[in-house]
Amino acid sequence: MSTPVKTRVLKLPVPGPKSRALLERDARNVSPSYTRSYPFVMERGQGTEVWDVDGYRYLDFNAGIAVNATGHSHPDVVRAIQEQAAKFIHMSGTDFYYPVQIELAEKLNALAPGSEPKRLFFTNSGTESIEAALKLARYYTRRPRMIAFIGAFHGRSMGSLSLNGSKALHKAGFAPLVPEVTHTHYAYCYRCPMGKTYGKCRIDCVRYLEDVIFQRLVPPEEVAAIFVEPIQGEGGYIVPPPEFLPMLREIADKYGILLVADEIQTGFGRTGKMFAVEHWGVAPDILAVAKGIASGMPLGAMIARESLMTWKPGSHGNTFGGNPVSCAAALETIRLIENGYMQNAAVMGQRMMEILEERRHKHPSIGDIRGKGLMVGVELVKNRETKEMAPKLRDDVVMKAFEHGLLILGCGPNTVRFMPPLNITKEHLEEGLDIFDHVLTLAEREAGLVS
Ligand code: PLP
Repeated sequence: MSTPVKTRVLKLPVPGPKSRALLERDARNVSPSYTRSYPFVMERGQGTEVWDVDGYRYLDFNAGIAVNATGHSHPDVVRAIQEQAAKFIHMSGTDFYYPVQIELAEKLNALAPGSEPKRLFFTNSGTESIEAALKLARYYTRRPRMIAFIGAFHGRSMGSLSLNGSKALHKAGFAPLVPEVTHTHYAYCYRCPMGKTYGKCRIDCVRYLEDVIFQRLVPPEEVAAIFVEPIQGEGGYIVPPPEFLPMLREIADKYGILLVADEIQTGFGRTGKMFAVEHWGVAPDILAVAKGIASGMPLGAMIARESLMTWKPGSHGNTFGGNPVSCAAALETIRLIENGYMQNAAVMGQRMMEILEERRHKHPSIGDIRGKGLMVGVELVKNRETKEMAPKLRDDVVMKAFEHGLLILGCGPNTVRFMPPLNITKEHLEEGLDIFDHVLTLAEREAGLVS
């Protein structure tokens, strides 16, 4: 039985006058490299609700790109930030010590999967966590090469950019990149790179790494690390089959290669587990985290097995990594995630998948619905049989959602992604999905897919 659309969905006159004035100033002053999908100018937020400078209310199903795990301005996180800021705001953990950083290091090391004790390096962002992983992998193994995946996104600085495989545009104009990165197939079952049907394959995409890449292109004994997102994010919210990560773990072990899990988007309860690798019982050698760790305060970490941390004092460092205010926000964020929000993400994610599945029959453009917890993607196609991608329809839906009070974004060429705060209520979840249902119908009508 399908869930009826309950709300009368209103079209907002956006952007309003205050937004327009700010957009003009922004256009004159900031880099044109940013990727704004629509002109949302934020005034304030609370939980899953946000308001723009003209006073219009929206539901935020982006959560600052999977960052605001505890919603906007959670009072407990705000309090932790205020208390730490009143004590001291910065000291530099590279050169000095402070309790809140040590406490967070202990907490993160205890949370990281795998039985061997861990050590970590604090960063300010996702890309910096990946750079640290790249450097440690090279330093420890003294091997020059890396394996990454088609569809991957790991960041924008030179090392992480070299690992990317989601959009050629990201690399255009920036060569030469870090050398000796080879990209292989991700297990994207809806569009199997090997042309197979899941269940009738032997996960040939992973075997390709051993049978083709390691045989013909790259000597495995020269490979330092395999970088993998347990669920591909920017590439299209692609959930691999259960065999994928365990097989990669096996291959890595066979050749003495380090397995680096990029949990920058999937981590901290987003998928219903603290880290997504836990869905498949795989422990990486190195874990890269950021985004949801501190509810929006800039922070990240590269967490590695203790025995890998052979680098010497001075080998790596930074000024802002492990900022005390960010660490205080992270400790409070993790407390909230452990005390209910991760469980809520699992339950609400399940509900989201159910509602989307119930409504699939109304929408000929829905090709695939996939996700775990509150990391859910809907891949839009022009035709379900041919699976021809519908990138314009996807962009129309994202824009129309904005005009109707729902903030969503795309990923991959033709997928819409939902990544709301982990503490989203059932009411907000249903309201947001009602808006999505409504605007998808409008876009399908304009595209001539429904009458
Ligand atoms: N890795 C993944 C999986 C990501 O999703 C992102 C950002 O979207 C990054 C790395 C880069 O993180 P940052 O933008 O904080 O540098």
